[in-house]
Amino acid sequence: MTASAGSMYERAAAAVRDSRLGEAVRRTTDSLRTGRRRAVRNMDDFEALREHARRIRAHTVDHLDYYLAQLAGRVREAGGHVFFARTARDAIDYVLEVAQRHRVRTVVKSKSMISEELELNAYLAKRGIRAVETDLGEYIVQLGGDRPAHLITPALHKSRAEIVRLFEQEAGHPLSPDTQSLTAFARARLRQEFLRADMGITGCNFAVAETGSICLVTNEGNGRMVTSLPRVQVTLMGMERIVPTLDDLDVMLELLARSATGQKLTVYTNLITGPRRPGETDGPEELHLVIVDNGRSHLLGSEFQEALHCIRCGACQNVCPVYRHIGGHAYGWVYGGPIGAVITPLLRGVPEWGQLAEASSLCAACTEVCPVKIPLHDMLIGLRHRVREQGRAPLLYRALFRLWANAVADSRRFGLALRLWRILQRPFVRDNYWRWAPPPLSRWLAERDLPAVAPRSFREWWQTREAGSPDSPSSNRPVRSSHATGTQHPGAGCKSPHGGEMHE
Ligand code: SF4
Repeated sequence: MTASAGSMYERAAAAVRDSRLGEAVRRTTDSLRTGRRRAVRNMDDFEALREHARRIRAHTVDHLDYYLAQLAGRVREAGGHVFFARTARDAIDYVLEVAQRHRVRTVVKSKSMISEELELNAYLAKRGIRAVETDLGEYIVQLGGDRPAHLITPALHKSRAEIVRLFEQEAGHPLSPDTQSLTAFARARLRQEFLRADMGITGCNFAVAETGSICLVTNEGNGRMVTSLPRVQVTLMGMERIVPTLDDLDVMLELLARSATGQKLTVYTNLITGPRRPGETDGPEELHLVIVDNGRSHLLGSEFQEALHCIRCGACQNVCPVYRHIGGHAYGWVYGGPIGAVITPLLRGVPEWGQLAEASSLCAACTEVCPVKIPLHDMLIGLRHRVREQGRAPLLYRALFRLWANAVADSRRFGLALRLWRILQRPFVRDNYWRWAPPPLSRWLAERDLPAVAPRSFREWWQTREAGSPDSPSSNRPVRSSHATGTQHPGAGCKSPHGGEMHE
């Protein structure tokens, strides 16, 4: 499946209509964020750790050239090869060249979002090379000819019935639908692939500059098989996925597992330094590290540099009310949720992908949970500005916001606008809420509650009070609630889009 800039609104609308998808996404993200909350609650110094991690990421990305050079040097000293790929095409060509030199027919892969970004499997297939995903979620996604829908749980959009159907197609006979039987089937199948494969391709959770090590974390152990059995290993890493030292790695691992799944530590943590040495019993004969730029260096020195701090934990996806409604595919590319809405336009182009910045309520729940404190909601606002500067916002949208900006810039104009709005809203309002509206507002209202402008504004109430009305505290009567006085808090009555909390 390839990327589709298309209309995010159409994809999102289709996703919202799919109640089964909504239920699956909410169930999985609920479980992940509950796990995170529990793991965080059990740590005394979580906020201090977050701040420490933020500083490490900021320092590393500020000195990326230095640490990348150090990493490349250490990997080569350990006997590995390093290739810097400026573009996706450069990375793919390099991997193909290595594969062809070793006459590779089958590749086993551990989970790698960057290989999704490069659409590597499709390119390998065109050259007659089979790539087999070995992470269980990715395996399911691959059997379905699909794309991952979440950074950590790629198959969260698949129901059990769909998985059974996919596995039965693959098996060629009926299977028992219980989890144990299904995983046993996948395990047996993948075991054959591990033994058959000539090349292993991995992603890279972190590379350690001081040792030249590649750190892979998995919960299934497939990363160990991919890096132990095949003759050749290729690791793909985004150029920012680096930490200076093992101590820094320690901090990141503490945060990654807790933020992603609520675990203290992922089940398998692998550190691979160079290919197999003489006397060692396993590991690849040849190891290649491909460091991919693919647009990332444009972010360096820009207001969006902090987007490169991401450690791909998925926590922002789990709390985002938009993601929880539409899942990952509606974002149109590899990365969904708040981090996807930020980096997709930055890596692929604001003109085509800038509309993703609208996929946010700006509630800042994402920023609150991000383990490395990326100000995601500020970045989304920054991207909206970019879209506007490039004249890409729809005409109606620009006109409405110009009117709004005009009205709120001056208190007299604002008062006038409120009075006008009170008159205009009359046919549409009942019991203090908009009940219907003509298109296109009707579509907006179908999913949301819009409180009516109150019969009396706070300023008007305040003036009455100053004039010594019975509402005035000076009359020794208790101040009446805003509801009783007819004033209304701007957000009063807004229901959370998922009927639950908006912030963690
Ligand atoms: S932006 Fe933060 S919360 Fe989201 S995936 Fe990256 S590190 Fe995790």
